[in-house]
Amino acid sequence: MKFGANKFNFLLLFLIFFVVIIISALSWILIQRLESKKPAISASLDSAVIGASQKITVTVTDEHSGLRQVRIGLLQNDKERLLTDKNNFAQVNFLGRGGTLRNTFTITVIPEKLALTDGQAMLHIVASDQSWRNWGKGNQNNFDQKIQIDTQPPEINVVTRVHNIEQGGSGVIIYKVSEKCSSSGVYVGDNFFPGHSGNFKDPYVFMAFFALDYQQGTETDLYLQAADSAGNISKAEFPFHIRRKKFKQDTIKLSDRFFKRKMPEFKTYLSSNEKLSLSEQFLEINRKMRQENYKQFIKIAAATDNTLFWSGKFMRFPRSATRAEFADHRAYRYKDETIDHQVHLGVDLASLKHAPVPSANKGKVAFAGTIGIYGKTVVIDHGFGLFSTYSHLSRINTKQGQLVSKGAIIGNTGMTGLAGGDHLHFGMMVHNTFVTPVEWWDAAWIRKNITNKIKAIDNEVNQ
Ligand SMILES: [Zn+2]
Repeated sequence: MKFGANKFNFLLLFLIFFVVIIISALSWILIQRLESKKPAISASLDSAVIGASQKITVTVTDEHSGLRQVRIGLLQNDKERLLTDKNNFAQVNFLGRGGTLRNTFTITVIPEKLALTDGQAMLHIVASDQSWRNWGKGNQNNFDQKIQIDTQPPEINVVTRVHNIEQGGSGVIIYKVSEKCSSSGVYVGDNFFPGHSGNFKDPYVFMAFFALDYQQGTETDLYLQAADSAGNISKAEFPFHIRRKKFKQDTIKLSDRFFKRKMPEFKTYLSSNEKLSLSEQFLEINRKMRQENYKQFIKIAAATDNTLFWSGKFMRFPRSATRAEFADHRAYRYKDETIDHQVHLGVDLASLKHAPVPSANKGKVAFAGTIGIYGKTVVIDHGFGLFSTYSHLSRINTKQGQLVSKGAIIGNTGMTGLAGGDHLHFGMMVHNTFVTPVEWWDAAWIRKNITNKIKAIDNEVNQ
């Protein structure tokens, strides 16, 4: 009997233990499945303004019960345009496992197709999970974001009437846009010249300095383009006339004496090519380094001040003789052989040795340092993308960020870099393009092509 009673007690204990285990397990599952964490929703738009077409990326996550349903819509005038309604997510098992924890939706919104009109709209997202909460409907989260719909491209009105430009020359255009633009400017062939507001009281009036590079011919197409923040783009034609320009052919005679004198200056640059002959070293400098230096100038000129610092004509380096002109096509002769061709993108002016170099006009020093074959160089930003450059200096007398007036001495001439003798290499740039300085030395040209146009707008727009 004693033995039987023990057995009974043991069974009872085991049963209680078993029931406790079952109840604990069930409660544990119930707690899991009744979790109250809402799904997280995030949306990203390329821009807060939707244009003719725009991508919207929505990410929904629910790490606890997995996703049940995601609805994405656009609300306008109390009417919803449904973009997505997904409810076929992976079903979770009894333990609440195996669901879709994260889903990213990429939707292209085309307002016209959805019959949306320009103006306000609301991005409306509802997501629920597979929790047993809310009588089995799960935890629900809402996400709303105001958006603007703008499918109208900006209007461009060209204000200036005459635009004459020569190959390697500069020009200016003034235009007015109808709305806030993310970018606007002139295309000269494939080259874009951004317009800037700030010179006129009306913030929608833009001014763009532009240039034709020496290689662009009379067939080059010029037009204005503006894009608003929704990405709507409009183009506008304007009258222009391109004058053909003939550039000079020139020969540069090279000698071993010149190489022996000059190549040590480029020792660091050539260090990985120690086995090259002197003329091969020269070619490395004249081609590769020249290209790198060119890129550096463009990088320097990428940032410009929206202030028209300059006035009147640009000063030509005083009492100097022209040794080489803009866009001279140079053939490099060595031992009766033409070994290279390059184009000279400035004007070489020679005066006395170590002559003081004045700033051609008022501006802000954008760069003061060494640029490879150009040696010690100063670059001055005259505002709105117009720059002047001074190279082969023996000494620099200014520093980056300094405001210099017309005629201020910024250094002395020399022969640093790839210069054969003491001279000033003077260059001018309009944004990313080297232009002939001759136009900017000519008071009559500046009046006719630049300042009179700006003054006319001042009188017209700023009254
Ligand atoms: Zn030069």
